[in-house]
Amino acid sequence: QAKESGRNAYKFFTASMNKTVTARMKVELALRRAVKNNEFVLHYQPVVSLKSGNIVGAEALIRWQHPTDGLVYPDSFIAIAEETGLIETIGQWVVMQACKDLKNWHNQGLKLNVAVNVSSRQCKQTSATPIAEVIETALAENDIQPNHLKVEITESLLMDNSKEMISTLQKIRSLGVAIHMDDFGTGYSSLSYLKHFPIDVLKIDRSFIEGAIDDKTDASLVEAVVLIGHSLNLKLVGEGIETQQHFDYLQSLGCDYGQGYHISKPIPAQAFIELCLNKR
Ligand code: C2E
Ligand code: MG
Ligand code: MG
Ligand code: MG
Repeated sequence: QAKESGRNAYKFFTASMNKTVTARMKVELALRRAVKNNEFVLHYQPVVSLKSGNIVGAEALIRWQHPTDGLVYPDSFIAIAEETGLIETIGQWVVMQACKDLKNWHNQGLKLNVAVNVSSRQCKQTSATPIAEVIETALAENDIQPNHLKVEITESLLMDNSKEMISTLQKIRSLGVAIHMDDFGTGYSSLSYLKHFPIDVLKIDRSFIEGAIDDKTDASLVEAVVLIGHSLNLKLVGEGIETQQHFDYLQSLGCDYGQGYHISKPIPAQAFIELCLNKR
């Protein structure tokens, strides 16, 4: 198409392409260095029971402590980590670190859960160190009961390669680790996924929660998801609770758990444990 539009368009096309490619290569190189130098940290966002208001656990969210750019958020590097395969190493570190932190909390008498995000690339059967084995090792090394660990996957993951994904998810689940479907409602999902995939929890995407207060369609969708989820014996987590109104609304629907800035933003492990100890 660029060629058809003439010489100048072609030049423009390659120039902007080069710029993008160079920028990506820079990130990739920096990511490789980050892996080598251990530049990642996990922040934890509390998850509360909407019945009791108590913190039941946290979602582990990765950040990149860049030596000059400061704290870099996952949306700017996870996609590149996936494309380059670096996500495998990074993902292993996430599981290991989350389990170490979890052990530390348990040692302090806090019986909490932790949820880790896993992307589709990590679920490929061809992986040198399959994610189910990584999880099994992390649980064993830290002496953690599997029901305290949760794995979050996104709907788009399920579209990639269903058979391979189902098999990986079943292996994880057979360890006793529950599977949470993240950002529910935003992928190109069909309800039949709920029938065929081994899922324990639906996390209602925050875009619906945000809309539900003013938008009848969003509200109907949230209500329907809660009803469907419960009728399938799944638990529900509402994401993106930003106001007391969001909290009250989800609570009134019987949604089981919630997380969001109104409760707490994601915070470093030390701040999270202090928050939990203070609430005890
Ligand atoms: P996610 O798993 O859906 O995580 C929720 C995201 O929403 C987090 O962004 C969190 O900080 C943000 N959030 C939580 N509560 C609120 C709220 O009330 N309002 C708003 N506006 N946002 C809220 P974050 O930490 O930037 O992570 C973005 C995404 O990056 C995650 O979405 C997840 O898909 C991915 N990610 C994070 N950590 C990892 C990881 O260790 N491995 C992989 N593969 N992906 C990760
Ligand atoms: Mg998540
Ligand atoms: Mg989410
Ligand atoms: Mg997300």
